[in-house]
Amino acid sequence: MLERFYPSFVYSSVIDIPYSLFEKNGIKAVIFDMDNTLVNSKYIYDEKVKIWLKDLKEKGIKVCILSNTPNYKKVEQIGKELSMPYLHRALKPWSFGFKKALKILNEPKESIAIIGDQVFTDVYGGNRFGIKTILVEPIDKNEFFITKMKRPVERLVIKKYKERVESKG
Ligand SMILES: [Mg+2]
Repeated sequence: MLERFYPSFVYSSVIDIPYSLFEKNGIKAVIFDMDNTLVNSKYIYDEKVKIWLKDLKEKGIKVCILSNTPNYKKVEQIGKELSMPYLHRALKPWSFGFKKALKILNEPKESIAIIGDQVFTDVYGGNRFGIKTILVEPIDKNEFFITKMKRPVERLVIKKYKERVESKG
């Protein structure tokens, strides 16, 4: 039953993901969560993230921000600074925003992955929608209470995921 919460891949942060992962898995387009995936709680991103994204785009991978935040101005600002299309009020894990992202990216679902820090919105949403899912650790631990409440369950899911991967050898 936990399967729907399992990510396809797990990394510490966006910049730890090797570009070869996309090539090996036929990923031609990547949807990015914004808060705590690309930027911290003060909407600041690491310069290394900007460079990583630039290199990714130069390798021909299409990108897009898909954020649940209602704060259009912030998503617009980050999208422009990082030179990527952006969508706010995505309503992840529901398919509403994913469908919009699909139109922007114009690739089949099997060639798309989402990268995000939350199991219940990014991973579960991506799995429901039928794309690959990459879970990263949240940049910042200074989160809303409701998000914090979900973390122990996320840890359980990650633990189970790792056990499964290890048992497969
Ligand atoms: Mg997030």
